Amino acid sequence: MKLIIASNNAHKMREIQEILGAEFPDMVTLKQAGLTIDVVEDGDTFQANAIKKAEEVRLASGFPAALADDSGLIVDALGGAPGVYSARYAGEGHNDADNNAKLMRDMAGVPTEQRTCRFASAVALAREGKETICVMGYAEGILLTESHGTNGFGYDPYFFYPPFGKSFAELSAEEKNSVSHRKHALEALLTILRQEKE
Ligand code: IMP
Repeated sequence: MKLIIASNNAHKMREIQEILGAEFPDMVTLKQAGLTIDVVEDGDTFQANAIKKAEEVRLASGFPAALADDSGLIVDALGGAPGVYSARYAGEGHNDADNNAKLMRDMAGVPTEQRTCRFASAVALAREGKETICVMGYAEGILLTESHGTNGFGYDPYFFYPPFGKSFAELSAEEKNSVSHRKHALEALLTILRQEKE
């Protein structure tokens, strides 16, 4: 299937390509297709934003299929924030470091047992003449008080993943891609696509 990844986030695109590459050798990014398409992410759920990105990019690009990921960090002690606002938690135009600094300020003094959190990923696949598929994936963790590791992106240095005893930023790309929220969502999508073929 000729597929375009509806994202301008280089980190995310790399992870999607690493996870799905074997199944979708014809997959290209917006950049590789020479396209600049900005979709306004104004939905109030990950699913709404992922579906909007996939469908708008499919129509604007002329590709038969488009895949989008909308993701973020859900912190229980903050009532689910930053959630769908993860990319702009510190405000428009701020970067990962600003978002992490705000998160640490908001979580200052919160004890370990109340620092439970999870990454969520909604993956949507829009296809010509077919209903858009949208699936979710999660990774459960504990929010650290200090940055650990330099791999990955976004909130990875503050996301402790208990099964590996490390933060996501201390994992290799291979390790993260074997357990991440994005991996779980993309696996769920592949399961649906395989079932369609049966
Ligand atoms: P989106 O482009 O609106 O989906 O924004 C996703 C934001 O959530 C990113 O900018 C990161 O701040 C955060 N995020 C999503 N997935 C990850 C991840 O795998 N690691 C770290 N941060 C992530």
